[in-house]
Amino acid sequence: MDLFEYQARDLFAKHGVPVLAGEVIDTPEAAREATERLGGKSVVKAQVKVGGRGKAGGVKLAATPDEAVARATDILGMDIKGHTVHKVMIAETAPEIAEEYYVSYLLDRTNRTFLAMASVQGGVEIEVVAEENPDALAKVPVDANEGVSIEKAREIVAQAKFPAEVAEQVAEILVTLWDTFIKEDALLVEVNPLAKVADGRVIALDGKVSLDENAEFRQPEHEALIDHAAANPLEAAAKAKNLNYVKLDGEVGIIGNGAGLVMSTLDVVAYAGENHGGVKPANFLDIGGGASAAVMANGLEIILGDPDVKSVFVNVFGGITACDEVANGIVQALQLLADKGEEVTKPLVVRLDGNNAELGRRILSDANHPLVQRVDTMDGAADKAAELAAAK
Ligand code: GDP
Ligand code: MN
Repeated sequence: MDLFEYQARDLFAKHGVPVLAGEVIDTPEAAREATERLGGKSVVKAQVKVGGRGKAGGVKLAATPDEAVARATDILGMDIKGHTVHKVMIAETAPEIAEEYYVSYLLDRTNRTFLAMASVQGGVEIEVVAEENPDALAKVPVDANEGVSIEKAREIVAQAKFPAEVAEQVAEILVTLWDTFIKEDALLVEVNPLAKVADGRVIALDGKVSLDENAEFRQPEHEALIDHAAANPLEAAAKAKNLNYVKLDGEVGIIGNGAGLVMSTLDVVAYAGENHGGVKPANFLDIGGGASAAVMANGLEIILGDPDVKSVFVNVFGGITACDEVANGIVQALQLLADKGEEVTKPLVVRLDGNNAELGRRILSDANHPLVQRVDTMDGAADKAAELAAAK
């Protein structure tokens, strides 16, 4: 989960990384009081989860509270690389910036380690530095068991050739930034710019943090950082039901058991769709190995609630949970939905194979639900589901 800058700033402050005061607002008028609280001037910064806001006009200085209101008026509602600005941070203005550096920690999956990156050429996009002047970006592996002590931090500082007068300050900041990284279970913490200002202090002026969602069970405070407004409502509903669901932009709803099977189902449906006007899968949904009727009903409810869905393909390979149980699950799920007043109106194509396939197929045939069709091969079923979606 990527955080907004103001959320990153709060986490930095919590772990002792030096930052400037700031507060987040969502109306232009609120910029006035916020700026007054900061002593009459401020920086107005668009809060969007994308870099390069400065260049796009999303970071503006305001010399008076009135000016802050004007800048917030300009920036709120602005579109930055496809992201609409709903919030701005009103931040304390830095004393004159003398130098801009870059520091970050990230999980380096390729090398199975953590990595520190640092450069004295910060402020600009670090990808550009890495491309045009790779020697200016120090990359130092960090052992997960040892972490970043002050000695390790000094090693990073030396490799990046920070000037002597800021070396010790930057090393101390690198230790606090490592604390942020580890204690918050982050996958990335990045400061750009880490600025040396006129009075000699080094301050984190902009931050980016990405948190590891797999650690949320031990990070209860991170719940509050989720941007519910941006979440897809179907994905949010699926998450609440503990379903592994990802919304896609096609028309054929997909339910399967096992991530691998569902992935191949997406491919097969996309391929079949080429013969039916280019219809595509509408979602990924893996209901897992031991899917009960209740889980099947939850899955169907989510998929049938998607207005983009025109037909549904249920693709099940019976394993530990045999096909007869799955077939009963489907029949019961349709009944459950009907009982809830959510009558199914979209056609379902069901393919059952594997353990007890014959029995499962017979259960479906006997149930004789008007909207359920059985097709016993994966390709055939995908083709049927695509055809039905295209016909709607
Ligand atoms: P980004 O463009 O999305 O990376 O946004 P940043 O927060 O990094 O801001 C872009 C640039 O604006 C920085 O590199 C700084 O040069 C400048 N900037 C940011 N905050 C301040 C501030 O408080 N005072 C001044 N004078 N400049 C700032
Ligand atoms: Mn920046």
